[in-house]
Order: sequence, then C-alpha cells, then structure tokens
Amino acid sequence: MALEDYRADAMRCNRCSYCKWIPQDRIKSWEFAKGCPSVDYRHFHAYSGGGRLVAGLSLTDGRSEITDELIDVVFECTLCGSCDVSCKVCRYDMHPLSGAKEFRHYLVDKGAVPAAYPGIIAKLRDTGNMAGAPQAKRADWAEGMGIKKLGVDTDKAEVLFHAGCLYSFNPALRNVVQSSARVLAKGGLDFAIDGDERCCGGKAYDMGYRDDFAAAAKANLEKWAAAGVKTVVSPCATCFWTFKRLYPTVAGDDYGIEILHTTQVADRLIKEGKLKPTKRVPMKVTYQDPCHLGRQGEDYVPWHGEEKKIFGQAVVYDPPRPRYNGAFGVYEPPRDVLKAIPGVELVEMERNKEAAWCCGGGGAVPQAYPDFADFTASKRLDEAQSTGAEAIATACSSCNRILGNAKAADGGTMKAIDVLELLEQSL
Ligand code: SF4
Ligand code: SF4
Repeated sequence: MALEDYRADAMRCNRCSYCKWIPQDRIKSWEFAKGCPSVDYRHFHAYSGGGRLVAGLSLTDGRSEITDELIDVVFECTLCGSCDVSCKVCRYDMHPLSGAKEFRHYLVDKGAVPAAYPGIIAKLRDTGNMAGAPQAKRADWAEGMGIKKLGVDTDKAEVLFHAGCLYSFNPALRNVVQSSARVLAKGGLDFAIDGDERCCGGKAYDMGYRDDFAAAAKANLEKWAAAGVKTVVSPCATCFWTFKRLYPTVAGDDYGIEILHTTQVADRLIKEGKLKPTKRVPMKVTYQDPCHLGRQGEDYVPWHGEEKKIFGQAVVYDPPRPRYNGAFGVYEPPRDVLKAIPGVELVEMERNKEAAWCCGGGGAVPQAYPDFADFTASKRLDEAQSTGAEAIATACSSCNRILGNAKAADGGTMKAIDVLELLEQSL
C-alpha cells in the first residue's frame, strides 16, 4: 500500500472525532474517557487518527507541503491503535492506524523524519540491534542458566525463545527475561535461544523504515528455516506483533510459524498442570494491556484484493479488506495467569482490553518526543492508582520500562512488574 491508497479512507472520514475517545459503550467516567494520547497532549485535530488521514490527503493532493510541523503531526503518535478501534465502531471499513503508519513510510522516503531517527537506524544497521550494543553481549542475560544456544549447543530448535533487543541489553529489565525463561523451563518447555539473535525489525517498521524491517525479517526467516524452527516464543509484545502480523507479509501466506507470547505459553502450562502456582503472593495488581499484544495482537489475515469504484464513485474493496477491530487480541491469557497466582487480586482499570490507554512507549515516541511519552505514561499511572492497586503488571518490555519510571500527577510512582515475574514468585 502507499499513502495515496488511503485516499478513499480520508475522503470517507466525516470528522466525527469518535477516534479521540474510547468506544462510547465502554466509557465509565469523564476522567478516563479519552482514547488518543496524541490529541489529548496537543489538543488539535491534526494530531488524531482522522486528522492524520486528512493531512495525508492534503499533502498527496498538493494542497500542503512537508514542514517541521507536519513531521511532528505524523510522528508524535504512539501508534497505539485506539483510534482504529473506535473508528470501526461507527465506520465499518476505515483504517486510520494503517494510514498513519503509511504516512511515516512516505515521509521516510522523502527524508523528512524526527532528528533522533537516523541515528537509531544507523545503529540498527551497524549492530543488528536497536540498542546499538555489541552483538557479542546479546545473550549475556542467559549466562549460567543452562539454556541451549542455537549455533553453539545445537543447530536445530523446534521452539525458539526470542528475548528482543530491550530485554537483551537493558540491565534494568534483565530480571524479567530471566524469570520468563526460568518459568517456561520449569513448565517443561524445551527451547533454545539464538546467541546471535537479531532485532525483529518491528520498531524500524513503525518508524517508517520499511526496507530495514524487511532486511531484519528476511535474515530471521532464513535463520529459522535453517534451524527447523516451528514455534517462536517472546516475552516482548512488540516482537510478538512483528512476528505474527508483519512477517507473513514478507514470508507469504504459507508462513506456518506458530507465534506465541510468553503469557500464552505460561497460561497453557498452568492449565495443563505442568506449572503449579502454590505459594501466596499477597498483592493487589492491575494489568496494562500492551497495544501490540492486545488490540493489535489479532491473527494476520491475508488480503490480495483491489480497490474498485461503483458507478465511478463509491470505493469498495474486492474482496473486503480484513477488519482488525481489536476484539480478538490476547487479553485473557495474561489475566488468567494472574488469577491463578494465590494471593494476587486483579483489579481492572476503567480503560482496558481494546479500550486500553497506551503506556506511551509505542511508535518510537520515547526516542523522539520524550515529554509526550512521559505525559502518556503519567496519565496511565493516574488511572492505575485509582484502582487502589499497589503494582501494575504488564507483558511488554516498553510498558515495563516506561511505567516503572513514570510519575503520576500527584508525584506518586508504582511498581511495574511482569506477569511472569509474579508467576515465578508463586512457584
Ligand atoms: S477517522 Fe473515523 S472516527 Fe476519526 S473522525 Fe474520521 S470517521 Fe470519525
Ligand atoms: S495511534 Fe494512538 S496516539 Fe496515534 S492517533 Fe491513533 S489513538 Fe492517537
């Protein structure tokens, strides 16, 4: 697709502003009714899902030009997808999120990007990871844990554990990835890690650097094919989404690799009786749905159709385009794991599942617009505090990092803990 392909969506946008709020039947209070962090921060229509569609139309129709302000409009968005869910409540077949991503790709092609981006991509090209760290340190987190390494201990692995760049290189998150691997091993899962694991490419895709995403995907797919990988498990919601929703676009419709998040595997192992949480962990927790695991974590649906016009006017798609509305994301497995831990009391935030408020860590926003990322995280912490929970559980490296460092409006902080870290305490 190209930005021009979203022309019909932009023309159909009736400026109803539904995309600025969570779906109306999910609103419980005025305080937590908003859905779009970007427009809540900027208070200007252009910074909404619908506003970006119209800005793209204006640009491709030659009625506006690329300016620094336009770059901010396009990239100061967490790509959380809340707008997409709400728009589809009233408009059956519109895709503001895909349009926003296409807009980024368009601007990357023109060299119009936030100042921070070229340096991040240069690091990815140099090192193969988003941290720009030496690849030789990639698997340091697993040292002494007795985990098989692909290319060192074995040449074949049916199940591959993919840690992700943030978990591999951020010392503050090392305990999360170690807990995740220990829990799965304790449940009897036979897996290996790749000692020379490469970035999934998902962040590059969201930044608009599609060629870098494709290069990362091809390299990983080739490696998986050579190793006979059938299942990839990741504790990172972004890697999970990238493998599940983006890799089929490179690999083709017969992709055939099972992609699982660690919470799905842990949930399965508990329900099969292979993991038995018995120790009490007395804690009241609320759960942050990661955007890439929740509303964007639905199964990939291939589409090879075309746009057609009826009587030269009304645009239709033949066959109809897949309709991702967030309803079938991964919501229950992490909650079921939390509910299986004796002593844990799970309390929901008002905005949850497909109506969840983003943590602020998506869309490569923290790298380019840190104040906006902090604003978004702070709003989420306010909501988490309102539940009376003492900790916020999550299932994503970005959520864990940003919410663990955020401050609520009253200056308060909250412990961020991964679902599998909590589970391990009960085993
Ligand atoms: S993108 Fe959808 S929800 Fe937003 S203003 Fe346009 S039609 Fe309304
Ligand atoms: S993706 Fe999220 S931040 Fe961006 S416009 Fe949509 S709701 Fe707003």
